[in-house]
Amino acid sequence: MAKAISPFKLEEVLKKACDRHHLSKEEIIFLLGLKEEEEINQLFHRAQSLRRRYFGDKIFLYGFIYFSTYCRNQCTFCIYRAPNRLCQRYRKNESEIIEIARGLAESGVHLIDLTMGEDPFYYQQDNGFKSLVELIGKVKEETGLPVMVSPGVIPKQVLVALADIGIDWYACYQETHNRQLFSYLRPNQSYDSRLEEKYLARELGLLVEEGILAGVGESKIDVAASMQAMRDLGAPQVRVMSFIPQRGSPMSSWPSPPRIYEMIIIAVLRLSFPDRLIPASLDIDGVEGLQERLKAGANVVTSLIPAHTGLAGVAQASLDIDGGYRTVKGVLPVLEELGLRAAKVEDYGHWIHRVKNGLVKQRICSGIKK
Ligand code: SF4
Repeated sequence: MAKAISPFKLEEVLKKACDRHHLSKEEIIFLLGLKEEEEINQLFHRAQSLRRRYFGDKIFLYGFIYFSTYCRNQCTFCIYRAPNRLCQRYRKNESEIIEIARGLAESGVHLIDLTMGEDPFYYQQDNGFKSLVELIGKVKEETGLPVMVSPGVIPKQVLVALADIGIDWYACYQETHNRQLFSYLRPNQSYDSRLEEKYLARELGLLVEEGILAGVGESKIDVAASMQAMRDLGAPQVRVMSFIPQRGSPMSSWPSPPRIYEMIIIAVLRLSFPDRLIPASLDIDGVEGLQERLKAGANVVTSLIPAHTGLAGVAQASLDIDGGYRTVKGVLPVLEELGLRAAKVEDYGHWIHRVKNGLVKQRICSGIKK
């Protein structure tokens, strides 16, 4: 069969992105469909040069504390879905969490990411959310670092309370912006509530992270639509992670997608959002997969988990954790090999400050317009 002729020329599309023009949906779909090794390398090369333009050789490092793996939900892709008995459940107490956070801060991470499932302990108990807010406040105070929270879709007043105590980030991945696919991936959950919570977080002055899953039945059109949704949301951190089949879940026999697809999406994210944060997650392929994600244009290493703390990852519950590889020390050689280096804690603080100021100005401007 003859190869379809594309109306796009790779070099022109790459140049357009480098000149800071927004790529159209069709151009994004074109880039997502690249197959030739040489063309994909060109894409990665441009993604790296854009990262360099905005971030130099500095990479940010995030410590990850998945402090409760209990969850009331039944996401079809997730090992921690409520009915699954084939996963490791735990709930860390306050002193354990603070101690782990302190250790992460001492190891040189730039941010503490506090993540949990929608744990009934917090969602259904009297004062559950009060204790959650207090806990998060203590982690921030003890470490002096920016904090990201990923607690699921929480009541609005809890999000307001978290903003009041000065948390920096709210992360809540939609996984897809195709409503039909969303209802398969996240049964009995509201697409709109999940999205609206992120808009509320933004209104409250929080930085928002949005993310998608690759390899769960989405089309390239869906991925392009997600990138538009990320732009509409104004998310300062945007991510993609490859689906990993989880035992005991309805998607346990689905294949994991070829990794090159995640790398291409990372690179297209960099072209579309050159000055934003794009994670290279250790949660999919461990430290071994870090180099390819950085080569695709990522500039944050996420899911650094201290060894022997009993903490798990999300997609890969134990990969590289107790070997001590998912640590600052474990990833520095990879950065060095690529001519990159860990940013200083102050660099990250300045970046956050600048972006928050920009958001405040945007809100003032939109207020004036109204
Ligand atoms: S993805 Fe999150 S909300 Fe869904 S089942 Fe897993 S832990 Fe719960």
